[in-house]
Amino acid sequence: MQRSPVIQFALTVVTALCLPLLAAAQTPQQVRMQRLNPAMPLPLRIDPERVAAAGIEVLSGKHICIYTDVRDQELTKDLIRVFDAAMAQWCNFFGVEPETTKDYQLSAMVIADRNNTQAFRKAGLIPADLPEFLAGYNRGHETWLYLQPGDYYTRHLLLHEGTHAFMQWFLRGSGPSWYSEGMAELLGLNRWQDGELELGYRVRSNLDCPYWGRVKILRNDVTERNELLLEQVMEIPAAAYRQVRAYAWSWAACDFLAHHPLTKDAFQQLTKNAKEIGPAFNRQFRQSIEDHWPIVQRDWQLYINEMVYGYEVDRGVLRAATQDAENSSVQVQADYSWQETPWRVQAGDRFQLTAEGQFELTVAKKTLPSAGGGITIEYYQGNPLGVLMMGVLDDQNPASMAKTSRVVGLGHDFVAERAGAICLRINTSPAKRSDNRGFLRVTFTKN
Ligand SMILES: [Zn+2]
Repeated sequence: MQRSPVIQFALTVVTALCLPLLAAAQTPQQVRMQRLNPAMPLPLRIDPERVAAAGIEVLSGKHICIYTDVRDQELTKDLIRVFDAAMAQWCNFFGVEPETTKDYQLSAMVIADRNNTQAFRKAGLIPADLPEFLAGYNRGHETWLYLQPGDYYTRHLLLHEGTHAFMQWFLRGSGPSWYSEGMAELLGLNRWQDGELELGYRVRSNLDCPYWGRVKILRNDVTERNELLLEQVMEIPAAAYRQVRAYAWSWAACDFLAHHPLTKDAFQQLTKNAKEIGPAFNRQFRQSIEDHWPIVQRDWQLYINEMVYGYEVDRGVLRAATQDAENSSVQVQADYSWQETPWRVQAGDRFQLTAEGQFELTVAKKTLPSAGGGITIEYYQGNPLGVLMMGVLDDQNPASMAKTSRVVGLGHDFVAERAGAICLRINTSPAKRSDNRGFLRVTFTKN
């Protein structure tokens, strides 16, 4: 619609007048912050007297100001230290110049009891249009979170919301839900020890992240045949994030894609596309890894079917076994999972595998030598740690290899139950392969 010049002029004057007026309602720090990303909604107007009258405590760090009814100043100060320490790591991960963030300060409402938000309402810290949320919610200058059971999980949640905020402010978006929530989970995982923060920490056990529980959800889904394909994770609708399950699968997808040797570079590039929230985001990403897609899908199956805390994705991918010069034997590396040999069998074929050599396993921080028979005082998944295992790769169902695999040990005769390529691996935890050293030399003889 064409506006008359007079109306247009009036609108321009009103707009020009309004902006400084609104800006004037903010603190100088907020005005400087708004310049970082003018597209962000204006800050909540906070009246310090009203906040104090409602009994809400206010504690500030460099990049965060916490409003809370949690009567534990040590905890609140700890959250502030964590958040401030995270800034350099967010900058590093997302390629943002730290200097750019000097005026950035998020307001975080840390609420002790999700069923008792009265004090925050009285203080004017919960606007009427704030939607219901599961644990945390982030918007513009503010983030809201409910105190969680255990210090770890509250810290995790703050870093999760902090990741959303950082992406919104400095990348101007955080992509579709799977990427936005998956990244917040990936970087929310943390280690906070002796004043040192590690963001995006590879948690090795549930003791590293009490109450987080995503690994358990994934394992249950896999057991109940309820697992998701990678492309299904990428299509999880926003409404599904009212349940923790959606967060678990999104985390798994981001963890996998960020560490798989064939996707990690393309995945890192997604930070440049974070403004895009429509289907173009997924389409462009899929195009960038299209050549590798069948391999990526196969390795995703291997990953989710052996999901454990600390799974090392780069060690869990199926790779080709190194062939020895005369091609009659292969080297099976102790620090990788399944290795595909050049030997193919048909169902009913009789063959023999023999292993020689010695490699090293690290068990409870001790390095132990092992041969193909493994270390029979330590077990993983019912078989001796370090024992040589054999599986026949079923291209349609690669994950079945683990369940149908058989012990080779120092040597064994087999009758193939199905056709396919013979794969070999040394039996160790998917979370500890990088601790191992050396290889076995394995020879194949068809009988
Ligand atoms: Zn989130």
